[in-house]
Amino acid sequence: MSERFVFTRHRTRCYRCGEAADQVIKAVSAQAQVTCSSCGATRIFVPRFENIGATWVCTPLGRYDIWRIEADAACKYCGVAGPHDLTIGYGHLATRCRNCGYAHFYRFNLEYISSCPIDEGVVSAPRAP
Ligand SMILES: [Zn+2]
Ligand SMILES: [Zn+2]
Repeated sequence: MSERFVFTRHRTRCYRCGEAADQVIKAVSAQAQVTCSSCGATRIFVPRFENIGATWVCTPLGRYDIWRIEADAACKYCGVAGPHDLTIGYGHLATRCRNCGYAHFYRFNLEYISSCPIDEGVVSAPRAP
């Protein structure tokens, strides 16, 4: 992943460890990731579709809040580096260029824990999606 499209942080209460910790958000054309800086819980999102001027609605799902974040990114469509709107829920992640409206939509693919500070002796395998 040498391409850098979106790389930002959002401080919120982690859905897994419950800590108020930075959630590191990275997105490129092929994939998007959200990682908790406290417990290492990582959610992987894969592209669903791309669109221009799309309107979409997202609804909160269960205990997962929807995050609305602004991040600077270079739009691959209009080429302008500027603010993008990020919307992240449990089942999806979307980025949208404020300049031209070009949007990437990703859907939740899998979740894994890259580090497990509580059960250090236990090998943690990726959880089934
Ligand atoms: Zn966490
Ligand atoms: Zn754009």
